Amino acid sequence: RSKKLQDGSWCWYDADADEDGRRRGQIAIGLRSAIADNALRLVFQPQISMKKRQLLGFEALLRWSSPQLGEVSPADFIPVAEQTGIIVEIGDWVLMQACREATLWPTPMGVAVNVSPVQLMRPNFAERLTEILTETGLEPTRLEIEITETMLIDNPGQALLVLRKIKALGVRVAMDDFGTGYSSLSTLFSFPFDKIKVDRSFLNALGRQAQATSVIETVIELGHKLSIPVLAEGVETDFQAAFLKDRRCDEAQGFLYGRPVDSSTAHALAQSGTWEDENAGKLSA
Ligand code: C2E
Ligand code: MG
Ligand code: MG
Ligand code: MG
Repeated sequence: RSKKLQDGSWCWYDADADEDGRRRGQIAIGLRSAIADNALRLVFQPQISMKKRQLLGFEALLRWSSPQLGEVSPADFIPVAEQTGIIVEIGDWVLMQACREATLWPTPMGVAVNVSPVQLMRPNFAERLTEILTETGLEPTRLEIEITETMLIDNPGQALLVLRKIKALGVRVAMDDFGTGYSSLSTLFSFPFDKIKVDRSFLNALGRQAQATSVIETVIELGHKLSIPVLAEGVETDFQAAFLKDRRCDEAQGFLYGRPVDSSTAHALAQSGTWEDENAGKLSA
């Protein structure tokens, strides 16, 4: 395709890239007022203990319903929020809401919150976390921060200091999307993680790619040897669940057990206590 330039001449251009850039611009603008617009909300996805068949808590996942753009996926708006820096404010809002919500659930059910590197590396992140815990009254042990290893690569020294501070508060730290980064093993070796979340791409490959079996088995075994519980992400089928159970995977999360649900549904599930597979049927898409 071609495009007319200001001087009146024409040139070839990549229409898709252009369209992409325009949308990112719209997202950046929309996000600035997302909190004030009341356009953000959290949904909560169950996390299950495989052995005890028990609801352990929920991962909080952010949703944005933009007045201009409609429902935008976090995969599209989180990167833009990180680039513009607005993620700091939004992430703060997420933490506050998630902690407040978790205080309504029976102890010791917990909430897992995704934290962006931009947010984590702010000089006063641990202090802010302390304030949020105090303000909401949530026991620190009921909060888990999920981070991806990419955030530890740029500045491992500073990251380690922050993680130590967070853990000193009693807050747990999970490694999200394990296996998708550049240096999963060395990251695991150098940082004090309390949980390993196996990326759902591995579950997805189970039964399709021969190596997936060995990779998942190895991660579970590794976690057990390091005394770190392993959670499998993206469990969708009975076949996957049976496989994980057989390999003694500790925890699971995925559409088989429940899609992310709104706060009142999460609250009802939390109150119902022990986990039955029928619960999954009660959850709406
Ligand atoms: P994540 O932290 O790895 O979250 C899991 C994602 O997988 C969620 O997508 C969830 O809805 C989806 N999922 C869960 N179970 C299944 C399953 O069985 N099958 C399939 N196909 N998908 C499943 P979602 O909510 O679209 O979030 C995408 C990513 O956006 C998250 O990946 C996380 O990295 C990021 N994100 C979401 N909320 C926040 C937030 O509050 N702050 C930050 N910094 N990032 C967030
Ligand atoms: Mg996560
Ligand atoms: Mg993940
Ligand atoms: Mg992910």
